[in-house]
Amino acid sequence: MSSKILIIEDEFAIREMLTFVLEQNGYSVIAKESYNDAQQALLHESPALIILDWMLPNMSGIQIAKKLKQSDSHKSTPIIMLTAKSEEDDKIQGLEVGADDYITKPFSPKELIARIKAVLRRTQPTATDDPIEIVGLRLDPISHRVTVDGKETALRSNGI
Ligand code: CA
Repeated sequence: MSSKILIIEDEFAIREMLTFVLEQNGYSVIAKESYNDAQQALLHESPALIILDWMLPNMSGIQIAKKLKQSDSHKSTPIIMLTAKSEEDDKIQGLEVGADDYITKPFSPKELIARIKAVLRRTQPTATDDPIEIVGLRLDPISHRVTVDGKETALRSNGI
């Protein structure tokens, strides 16, 4: 199943370019030009990632990111901010409201795809074969082994 990506970008040419590049790379794309325009998609689709332009009419990308990260339905949806701003303060502001990464315009399609993959890898650990480790408890999706502080443990099944 291909990951669904929601784009919110008001510039037609960039929206088209993003859609083209993402579809070429096997993602399914929903492209919208504003937060209002994206409402339906946010309510009824579950995008794996949101690409959010910084400079948008009405509600800025920063305001949208803040709103999404405070919502129950989208607080864990990764966001990549798209920005023409390269000032360090702006980048920090973007990361502070909860954006997972940012891309400065102009960007190359290659960089975009690499960043999307990196963010998805980081935010969807179960989609990889890497072992998952939380406070000493380690789950290995390949061998199905569970260890606690390095010692192998059998998980009990229900009814046994
Ligand atoms: Ca814009």
